[in-house]
Amino acid sequence: MKSCEDGRFCEGCLIPYGPILVNPNSAVLNYGQGLFEGMKAYRRKDGGIQIFRPQENALRMQMGAERLLLCAPSLQQYVDAIKQVVAANKRWVPPYGKGSLYLRPLLFGSGGVMGLAPAPQTTFLVYTNPIGNKYKGHSGDLNLFIEPNFARAYPGGTGGIKNISNYSPVFQVAKEAKAKGFSDVLFLDAVEHKYIEEVSSCNAFILKGNVISTPPASGTILPGITRKSIIQVARDLGYQVEERRVSVEEALNADEVFCTGTAVGVSPVHSITYQNKKADFKTGEQTVAKKLFDMIRGIQVGDLEDKYSWTLKL
Ligand code: PMP
Repeated sequence: MKSCEDGRFCEGCLIPYGPILVNPNSAVLNYGQGLFEGMKAYRRKDGGIQIFRPQENALRMQMGAERLLLCAPSLQQYVDAIKQVVAANKRWVPPYGKGSLYLRPLLFGSGGVMGLAPAPQTTFLVYTNPIGNKYKGHSGDLNLFIEPNFARAYPGGTGGIKNISNYSPVFQVAKEAKAKGFSDVLFLDAVEHKYIEEVSSCNAFILKGNVISTPPASGTILPGITRKSIIQVARDLGYQVEERRVSVEEALNADEVFCTGTAVGVSPVHSITYQNKKADFKTGEQTVAKKLFDMIRGIQVGDLEDKYSWTLKL
C-alpha cells in the first residue's frame, strides 16, 4: 500500500510476505526517514475479530510524518489498509486468549536522493504476523536497569514519534543490561539525567498511595496508545493520574511501577536497579496495575463492554 504518487508501487495490493525493492539511495536507508506503528487484532470469545484503536495509530503516524516530511496516508486509507490486511489473514488471528495478530505499518522515504534531503516518494505498507502473549502474569516479570550515561531521545529530536532511528541507540545498552540479568532499561532524560522517561518500547508509570504518575509525552517520550488508554481508564476508576516529570528518587520509592505498551500490555515492574541500589515494588493479583490490566485487556479482547469505542470490529 502507498499514499503518494509513485507508479512503481502497487496501490492497494495485497502481496505475499517477502522482500521488497528499495533503492540504495533511498532516504530511509541513508537518513532514517521512516516510521513504524504497532497494533494488534484480537479474537473474541465469540470468534469475531477486533482491532484496538487503529485510528489512534493512524494519527500518531500522521504526526510523525509531519516531523519527517513524509506523505502520510489519510485516516481512511490507513484504517482501510489495516482492515484489508486483517481480513486477508483471518486464519492467522490466534484463538481467543492465545495471542493476537500483530500489525506493523511502515511509512518510509523510498525515493532515492543524493544529498541530505527528504525522499521524493513515500511508501506505506502493512505487514503482519501472529504473536503469543508477551505479558507473563502479574508476578512481575520486569526488572529494570537505569543506565544514566545512555539516552534514548533528546529535546527537539524525534523521541516523541515512532521514527525507526529511535530504536538503534537502544540496542547496545539493552544488550548490556540483559547480560547483567536485567530485562530492560529505564531511560532517563538526556539533559539532567534525573527524571525517568520510558523503557525501550513501553511507557512507564508509578503508583504512590492512590496517585498514579507518568512522565509527560512531550517531545522525548513516545505518546503510547496504551498509555493514553490507561490514563483514561485509571481516571474513570477514580484514581488521580498526573502527567508530570518523575524523578528517579520518586520512582525508586514508589509502591508500584508498571509499563504499558501494545506488546507488554500493562506489565508490572518488580525492581529497578540504579547505581547499585535495588528498589523492589509490589506486584501480583492485588495491585492497581493488575486492575488496570484487566480493564484494558477486557476491552481489547471483547470481554468487557467498550464504552470508549476503542475497538474496530471486523
Ligand atoms: N515507547 C516506545 C519507545 C515504544 O516503542 C512503544 C511501543 N509502540 C511504546 C512506548 C508504547 O506505545 P503503545 O502503547 O502505542 O504501543
